[in-house]
Amino acid sequence: MAGDRLFAVCVKANAYGHGMPEMVSLLTEIPGVDYLTVHSADEARVCRAYGWTKEIIVLGPLSPWEVGDLFEYNLQPTVVSKTVLERIGKECEKRNQSARVHLKLETGTNRQGITENEIEQFAVVFKKYKQLSRPFGLSTHFANIEDTTNHEYAQSQLKEFNRLAGLFNKAGLKPTIRHTACSAALVLFDKTKFDLVRPGISIYGHWPSKETHLSYRLTGGENDIFHPVMSWRARITQIKKVPADSFVGYGCTYRTTSVARLAIIPVGYYDGYSRALSNQAYVLIKGKRAPVRGRVCMNLIMVDISDIKGIKLGEIATLIGTDNGQTLSAEQLADWSGTINYEILARISPETTRVISD
Ligand SMILES: *Cc1c(COP(=O)(O)O)cnc(C)c1O
Repeated sequence: MAGDRLFAVCVKANAYGHGMPEMVSLLTEIPGVDYLTVHSADEARVCRAYGWTKEIIVLGPLSPWEVGDLFEYNLQPTVVSKTVLERIGKECEKRNQSARVHLKLETGTNRQGITENEIEQFAVVFKKYKQLSRPFGLSTHFANIEDTTNHEYAQSQLKEFNRLAGLFNKAGLKPTIRHTACSAALVLFDKTKFDLVRPGISIYGHWPSKETHLSYRLTGGENDIFHPVMSWRARITQIKKVPADSFVGYGCTYRTTSVARLAIIPVGYYDGYSRALSNQAYVLIKGKRAPVRGRVCMNLIMVDISDIKGIKLGEIATLIGTDNGQTLSAEQLADWSGTINYEILARISPETTRVISD
């Protein structure tokens, strides 16, 4: 808990690629983390299996057949469907237990959210089940906060959230807590923080976007509040010399102009190293840039080490991270492959071994 506000850490998508088991075991040791947030009941079960005993909010949709899990694993669901709320109410009655549900309000993202004209129907369900009686949380999510330095839309969503929350109060559905803040909202707007904050990407040391970083700096914020916590490395499994005018890899998309020395690295698109990085990216070896030659394969890449001296078999290649003072970021990989840092991190294969080090 930070002050009198609850602190929830988002560990969906295998903890943004950092490894859910590893992250959950680390977070269990930190007293200030009150909640985990996850996408699904399946992810919540994994958190419980790795020893998380405090609260969990399931942010994504809960299927009617997963209602039993709420009670079995002590989960707080995000509810946007009257049918699901009704099921939860029935289950509460059957077990003579209460449930803490969070209602997500539609404020302009048009993904998951309850609209103004549904409030009355929800009120009816809450009144029907005395164990349920009212929502524990009211929440919403911003559509356009990290993608821009113009935050008018986010401000309008915040205003709409406050307006709808007022209507819920009037309908007798005053929640215990309200929450809206993802990482970008958390660093940019105090008024989004309410009673609980639920950051994801910033916990792992990444800015949500360049725009968020810029907006934060323009308000006088410090430059380096986030430091990425994860590196991605692999060992060279083969080194070879190829003659001038040789093609490299599938599709013959790269051809050497002179004799070249190539290193083979056992990472490919299966592992989350996107095929869009073909002939675009480099890796760091001994702090030097070794360009990816040819297409990224399913399980391998070839990189050019012609100009890097003294490389041996088993030498470490850094795909993301710092090596000998040189840094290659997830954001750089995202730029090369036309995506965002979130996707780069989240797609690193869960099968890749995670090692926790100091
Ligand atoms: C993923 C998610 C977050 C965390 O977002 P970040 O931008 O990673 O901080 C917060 N709230 C909801 C509803 C989410 O789905």
